[in-house]
Amino acid sequence: MSASVEKKPLEEVIIVGSGPAGVTAAIYAARANLEPLMIEGEEVGGQLMTTTDVENYPGFAEGIMGPDLMTVTKQQASRFGTRFIPKNVTKVDLSSRPFKLWIEDEEYQAKSLIISTGASAKYLGLESERKLLGRGVSACATCDGAFFRNQKVCVVGGGDTAMEEANFLTRFASKVYVIHRRDEFRASKIMAERVINNEKVEVLWNSELKEVVGDNAVEKIKVFNNQTNETVEMEMDGVFIAIGHKPNTDLFVDQLDMNDVGYLTTQPKSTYTSVDGVFACGDVQDDIYRQAITAAGTGCMAAMDAERWLENQEHSS
Ligand code: NDP
Repeated sequence: MSASVEKKPLEEVIIVGSGPAGVTAAIYAARANLEPLMIEGEEVGGQLMTTTDVENYPGFAEGIMGPDLMTVTKQQASRFGTRFIPKNVTKVDLSSRPFKLWIEDEEYQAKSLIISTGASAKYLGLESERKLLGRGVSACATCDGAFFRNQKVCVVGGGDTAMEEANFLTRFASKVYVIHRRDEFRASKIMAERVINNEKVEVLWNSELKEVVGDNAVEKIKVFNNQTNETVEMEMDGVFIAIGHKPNTDLFVDQLDMNDVGYLTTQPKSTYTSVDGVFACGDVQDDIYRQAITAAGTGCMAAMDAERWLENQEHSS
């Protein structure tokens, strides 16, 4: 008997990615009876799953925890019939319609596609950083902060993420150093002030992390001062990298137009990408606002764009 490959039914719309953009797109697409299939990715829920308090998402006067926000939003999408697959898409072919997507060797087909694959944390690119990743080096204080109770940690970066991580880490650590390459923060004033006024935090200005020292755990760091040209060694237990994010667009290289740092380009006032029938929303196409609420807003736009596009296809066929 020959093995038969299950043929997946043609989907109206597949949503790739499960952060605020994707889940909002799913709510709108499901309520439009498109029965969306969401391929969530292995990091289900996206970046908010590694955040603590979200204080700026409208509707939650007291704030809400990032994972709680994503859980309740997913329930909302599920209630209207969204189906979920918690795996990574491994390949796409957008050269003809229906579009084809693969999860390993399982093939899916869709009339339209909504891409909401978000962005991922960036690293400095040091050999020693890679070697000790998960052994004291981390890009997620929410995930790993509690391992550093009464220990010394540092946070690299000067944006809002670095401020948030540094403040959060003071709950556990005895001392938090913020290592920033310039003499002023990029972060919003309120977040920066919270850090500067926190007595457990010390800011190392004009400073660059050059090496993380240790075999199986972080023991020391080497920090270069770019004003004095001096390098100092400091004892350290944990190193948190918070220097921004990279859009998750590797799957779409040579298939969709991107800007010079890899964000998908969309047509003004829409979520249309360079391929007809493929829409993009959230951080994967937004290198300016990058907020949960703006991601959700563009998720709504993508579902509405896809719905109208599908309707026009039917009328013109
Ligand atoms: P940002 O791009 O805003 O900041 C990155 C920081 O890392 C900058 O200070 C930058 O330095 C530094 N950096 C970048 N590359 C390197 C490098 N190779 N070596 C050393 N330092 C480096 O990213 P964030 O992740 O902080 O924030 C992204 C967006 O998300 C922002 O819009 C932010 O406002 C938002 N956000 C909002 C939050 C909230 O409101 N609760 C929480 C977290 C993020 P330099 O300044 O010199 O360029």
